[in-house]
Formats: sequence, C-alpha cells, structure tokens
Amino acid sequence: MQPNYFFINKVEVRVRFAPSPTGALHLGGVRTALFNYLFARKNGGKFILRIEDTDQTRFVPGAEEYIIKSLEWIGLDIDESDKQGGEYGPYRQSDRKHLYREYAEQLVNQGFAYYAFDTPEELDAMRKDLEQKKASVQSYGPATRNNMKNQLTLGQQKTEELLAQGVPYVIRFKMPEDEKLVLHDIIRGEVKADTAILDDKVLFKSDGMPTYHLANIVDDHLMKISHVIRGEEWLPSLPLHYLLYRSFGWTDTMPQFAHLPLILKPDGKGKLSKRDGDRLGFPVFPLNWTDPKTGEVSKGYKETGYFPEAFINMMALLGWNPGNTTQEIFSKKELCQLFSLEHVTKSGSKFDPEKNKWFNKQYLEKKPNSELAQYLIEDANKDGINISQADAEKICGLIKERASFTTELWPSAQYFFIAPQEYDATNMKKYYKQETPELLKQSIEKLKEIDDFSAQNLETQISNWIETSGLNFGKVLNPMRIALAGACKGPHIFDIIEFLGKEETIKRIETLIAKN
Ligand code: GLU
Repeated sequence: MQPNYFFINKVEVRVRFAPSPTGALHLGGVRTALFNYLFARKNGGKFILRIEDTDQTRFVPGAEEYIIKSLEWIGLDIDESDKQGGEYGPYRQSDRKHLYREYAEQLVNQGFAYYAFDTPEELDAMRKDLEQKKASVQSYGPATRNNMKNQLTLGQQKTEELLAQGVPYVIRFKMPEDEKLVLHDIIRGEVKADTAILDDKVLFKSDGMPTYHLANIVDDHLMKISHVIRGEEWLPSLPLHYLLYRSFGWTDTMPQFAHLPLILKPDGKGKLSKRDGDRLGFPVFPLNWTDPKTGEVSKGYKETGYFPEAFINMMALLGWNPGNTTQEIFSKKELCQLFSLEHVTKSGSKFDPEKNKWFNKQYLEKKPNSELAQYLIEDANKDGINISQADAEKICGLIKERASFTTELWPSAQYFFIAPQEYDATNMKKYYKQETPELLKQSIEKLKEIDDFSAQNLETQISNWIETSGLNFGKVLNPMRIALAGACKGPHIFDIIEFLGKEETIKRIETLIAKN
C-alpha cells in the first residue's frame, strides 16, 4: 500500500494529543497518546499536548495533572505543552478563550453559521414533535432549522435586536442541505457522508465559550497540526470538521485524519470499559486514580507492578502490528523506528489481560537483579524486614523466573527471611506421611555432617546420601521444602538451603517435626 501522507515531506509533522480533563486517562486515551507520540518520533516531528477544557461542566479537578503524570510515567516526552511552552501556545483551551469568538463570527458573516435563540423548552418540544412524527432525521439541521427560532427564520434585524437585548444564543454551523462528501482517512480509506442527515452542531455559546468542534478545528489550524490521530469515536465528527476547514478556507493545510480502532472487551462484544476491569480484575488506568466525587480508588498499571516499557509494548500492539514478523517484544526505540499508520488495523482489537501479564514477565526476567533488588528491599522494609543489597540480588536471581510483577517479589521471597508460621494443608496431606519425621531426622544428621553449604555441594552430598541409603527423593525433599518454605514452592531446594545456612535449615526442619 502506498503511504497516504501526501504532504509528509513538505510539511513538518506536528501531531497533538488533545484530552479533555474530565477524569482519569483511560486506556483508549493512552493508546491515542502513544500512537501520536510514535508517529511524531518516527517522522522527526513534534508531539504536542493540548488540554481541551472548554466544557466547564465536565471539568474534573486533578484530571489534567493526572494526564501529565501518566504521560511522564509512560515515557512519552512532550515537545510543546502548557508546561514545556512552545511557539503556538497557550496550549490549554480555557487560556485561548479570547481567540474563538472572531472565528465563530467569521463563519456567521460568511453565511456558514447562524445565531440561534431557541430555549431548552423549545428544543425539547422540537425533539418530541420529531419523535412523534417518526421523522427520518431527528435533529436540529437542514430539515428542521427553518422551523426554529434562529437568524435564518428571524432575519438580520430581529437577530441583531435579540443580541442587543442580551437574549441567550448559540452559534450553529449551517450544514449544507444535500451534499455527498467523500473524505479520506489514512486507516479507513474512503469515508462517505450525506450532509442531509447531519445536524447543525453548536459551535459557540453565549457564555463566550466555543464548543469542542470549533475550538478543536481552530487550534489544529493555528497550531499547524499535520495529522489528527484520534479514537474511532470521533469519526462521525469528520464530515463537520472537514466542512469547517472548507468554510474557513483552510483545506490546503487541513491535517490528514487517522481514526484508531476501538479497544474491545476481553470477553464478549463492545468497547473496553472500566467495569470490565473491575469485573475481571485488571487496571484500566495507567496510575492509581482517586475519583474526587466518590473517593473510590482505582488501581493503576504502575501500582500493579507494570514496567512502563512493558506497558508501552502491550499498548502499541493494540491495533498496530509491525508487519511481517512474529516479534512481540519491542523497545520504545524500536517502536519509534517501526511505527506506521498503514499498519494500524481497521477492526477493533481485543484487550487481553493475561497477555499483558506475559509482557510484563518478559521485561521482568530481563531486568538485572540489581534493579529488581530495589523493589524487594523496599517492600520488605514496609514489613519491617531489612535486606542487604547482596542478599536481595541473590534472591531476585532465584525467584524472578516465577514472577510477573515486581510486587510479587517480596511475597514470594518472605520465607527466606521469616520461618513459615504455617504449612500448606494440601501439601502436608500429600507429603507428610508416617515415615516422614524419621526421614527428616536422618536428613538433619546428614546436614550436620556437611561443611560446604554451597548449593552445588549440598546437591551432590544429599543426592548421594538419598541414593546410597535407598531412600526416595520426593519422600525426603518434599517435606523438607515444606519445612523451609511452608509449601512445595520456590526455586531449587539446595539454593534455599544455601541461603538459609545450616543452623536455620536444621531449626526449620526440627520445627516441622515438632509441630506434627
Ligand atoms: N478533546 C477530545 C477528546 O477527548 C479530542 C478529540 C480529538 O483528538 O480531536 O478526546
């Protein structure tokens, strides 16, 4: 397929992530931010963060900070934003408020938009009437606007009078009556629309605030955005956005559009939601999020123990694939080199929480023990246990193979530092038999004889002893493992014995015998 970015070589690639601070950043938003970032890096362009906060009724305190912190944790460095600054600021729409009115008025003056004075009751009555009539188009638009209270029906003079009296108004886009549009989307190809069934969206309100549609188009234009990469939920807005560019006379520099596929539920149909995460036990936000209204805390990927590299890797593969390869592990650097919108799929991609754990495990296994040791030391510390760097590194080397998350390190290493307080009942039933105490006593005698407590020597000596005495490996080693670790779990038993040392090992075996 030929790349679609026809002006990629002529115009600097400038993309923006434009969240509305209405709550925590959900996974769809993370993926949109990531694809914008990768596209910018791949094409030597700029990645811009613009906060779209024109809808003050949906404003949630803390959301903007949360979004910024999330992008920081994921490692998506921003080139231009409110914090970073840049030539095209301000980068928060509420700080750009003064800009939008003149653009709305320009459209009115050119006949592409009009003032409307309908009250909420009148709008309601219109809706009810259309419903009753079972009208094929049930919105304020080409088919209905001539029956409403607006500039088109009232005339210029009356409109000016109402404006002068301070009657509340909105400015609506005047949708062409009957035009068939054929638009282009990089991912979807041709997108067709019939303006006859589209509505006259509100662009500006009498409180002086623009709506999303107007502010978004004006800002993309003023910020010289080259590509709009956003979620599929915005595809229905594409015709209006195109028409706004056309009405302003900006089609020559109009950005190209790419609408990303949905992220789907792990089971069943439909878009992934927070409820799916709650129901199936996986996070849907990058960082912990406390709902300011309810106080409810939702756990984040970071706090669950995900590495940002693993998180990026799994998110990148939600809707994108690198083409002819079975490779699944990609560093951020590789993704920046490989990413292309041509390899973004049209269809939604299923979210797979188990696969995500697998991704994290791959990264965890490759982490140096020195780095993993920090997590172990920190978590043990919270339980009042001090672990030296050397011990922590050694243990991480032994247990990391079985861990998917750093948060699992301390729980699965506790028995190295704290003797088991209880023993796994199922394991006991299976392995602690009548002859076990006697076998364990013999093993204590054998351990006493051994001086070199290296895992290797222990293995040779104990194995020889078991073999030459005609004993059974499982019958000796399984209960021994229960004595040391509380259950049949953990790394190689001789590694555990080496770490615990002679005295502690014998003590734990004696305790098991004494308690049973
Ligand atoms: N503020 C919009 C949003 O939340 C941005 C959509 C767009 O990228 O155009 O999602």
